[in-house]
Amino acid sequence: MQTFRTIKSLDQCLKGYRPAGLRVGFVPTMGFLHEGHRALIAESVARCDITVVSIFVNPTQFGPHEDLERYPRALERDHELCRTAGVSLIFVPNASEIYPPGFQTSVEPGPVAEPLCGAFRPGHFRGVITVVTKLFNIVQPDVAFFGQKDFQQCAVIRQLVRDLNLGVEIVTVPTVREPDGFALSSRNSYLSAADRERARCLSRGLFAAQAAFQAGERDSRTLVETARAQMMEVDCLQYLELRDAGTLEAIPGLVEQPAALCVAAYVGATRLIDNVLLTPPPAALSDHELELVSHAINRQATAGAEGPRSS
Ligand code: AMP
Repeated sequence: MQTFRTIKSLDQCLKGYRPAGLRVGFVPTMGFLHEGHRALIAESVARCDITVVSIFVNPTQFGPHEDLERYPRALERDHELCRTAGVSLIFVPNASEIYPPGFQTSVEPGPVAEPLCGAFRPGHFRGVITVVTKLFNIVQPDVAFFGQKDFQQCAVIRQLVRDLNLGVEIVTVPTVREPDGFALSSRNSYLSAADRERARCLSRGLFAAQAAFQAGERDSRTLVETARAQMMEVDCLQYLELRDAGTLEAIPGLVEQPAALCVAAYVGATRLIDNVLLTPPPAALSDHELELVSHAINRQATAGAEGPRSS
């Protein structure tokens, strides 16, 4: 495993691989890696010949009062996780390598970035897709891997790739959770033990709605209220919304398409996000049938709405 701090040195190394026609997988991260990141890396290692991981806490996706300065960092531990996970190259640029003096261009997302996190974090997705575009241009991967945990981010990036013909295959990897259902996140390190305990109610609520959906409930208001009833322990529920899994448009009535129930909430001073997909019930299906259904949903989402592939 090799580590690069400059675009030039990474590029020189990648130039050596490209003539051999090797398939390059790319996992962009902000570091402080955990098992969620490891799942993305594992997917890349399984599908590609070489896997590039970037570790970059991107300043342009943080708002002025957000946690850029105190975002957790543990570079040595990250290296160790990457090494044991089979990463080939790590790219760890500093901010001036990505945003040199005079930098002034950014990529503007469309309506898919407006609701949910977009409404509460102005400019966030502009920062995300600007850095993702730059990283794609630097690494030139065949495939890039993103977590379903950041559901809207996946939708915005799929739209970016489609709209700007970036020619990178996007794979969405299911959310990795603690045994009690709580979604892993680097920001979980901010939580006190008591807040961590309260934060469980988010996934509990999402799973309650998912269970109601699988039991046949299709009314979007009932599904949202089923989840909300479990989420009383948070300090501020920013949003809890059922959205079309591909376009992220609101679903006012019955849920008749692949949908995502998405939540953002503060527990103490920590902002947490999570989501579940609502897709037809798997209970009556064999593993093989389940796989076929999941592929069909995937194809439908890719052709029409470009939604994530996991359920
Ligand atoms: P971050 O370092 O938080 O910017 O995340 C880097 C990538 O890891 C993003 O594509 C995230 O969606 C993904 N990710 C973060 N947490 C998880 C998780 N619990 N399960 C799966 N993927 C995750």
